[in-house]
Amino acid sequence: MVRIVLDAGHGGKDPGAVANGLQEKDITLAIVKHIGRILGEYEGIEVHYTRVDDRFLELEERAVIANKLKADFFLSVHINAGGGTGFESYIFNGNVSATTITYQNVIHAEIVKAVGNITDRGKKRANYAVLRETRMPALLTENLFIDNVNDAAKLKSEQFLLQIAHGHVEGMVKAFGLKKEKEKTKVTKPTKTQYDQEVDAAFEFLKQHGVVTQDRRNEPVTRAQMFLMLHRFAKNILKE
Ligand SMILES: [Zn+2]
Repeated sequence: MVRIVLDAGHGGKDPGAVANGLQEKDITLAIVKHIGRILGEYEGIEVHYTRVDDRFLELEERAVIANKLKADFFLSVHINAGGGTGFESYIFNGNVSATTITYQNVIHAEIVKAVGNITDRGKKRANYAVLRETRMPALLTENLFIDNVNDAAKLKSEQFLLQIAHGHVEGMVKAFGLKKEKEKTKVTKPTKTQYDQEVDAAFEFLKQHGVVTQDRRNEPVTRAQMFLMLHRFAKNILKE
C-alpha cells in the first residue's frame, strides 16, 4: 500500500500568486482534487490531503501532516509567477534519497508528456520548507505561470487542469507501479490441460459412434455400463 499526501499550495488568507483574474490557491486545490479523484481508480494507494477547502496552513503544518501519517510520498502542487512560462518541478536541494530523484524524473516526464506543447523548464532543486521538513520523498510542481497571459488562459480551462492532473497521476502510476482497480477483479479463464483436451476428443469420438451419450467424465462406471459400452464399441466401431 502506497500512502501519499497531496498538498494544494497556499489557501485561506494566503492566495499565493495572483494575476489575470486568477488566484494560485484556487487552481492548486482544483488540480489536487482532480489528482485525488483519478487516483481513486487505482488499487494499492491511499490518498490523503493537507487541505480540501480554502483554508490557511503553515508550511510546517503541511509537512507535519505527512510525517504523522508516515506517508510514502508527498506531492505539493503550485502555480508559478515572476515572469516566465511553462512547467518545472522541485525536490529538496539537500540530502535526498535515490528514490526521490527517480520519482522526480518519472513524474516530471509524465506531466510534460500529458500537458504537451509547453516549455519544460527542467527538474530543479530548492530549499523549500515542504520539501525539507517532510521525512519521505517529496516533490513540488510549478504548473505554468499565473502572470503570463498565455499560461493564465490555459489555467482558466478546466480541461487543461484535468490534463495537468492526469500527468501527475500517470507519473505516480509509473513511479509506484499502480494498477487500475478493475484489473484486480478480472477473472482469468483457466486453460485446459492436455489431459482434459484428450478426454474431450475421446468423448466426442465415442459419442459420434453411439458408444456413450453423456460426458460424466468424473463419475465412476458400473460393470453393466462397461458391458454396454464395450458392446456398442464392438458393434459400432470394430465392425466398420
Ligand atoms: Zn506557490
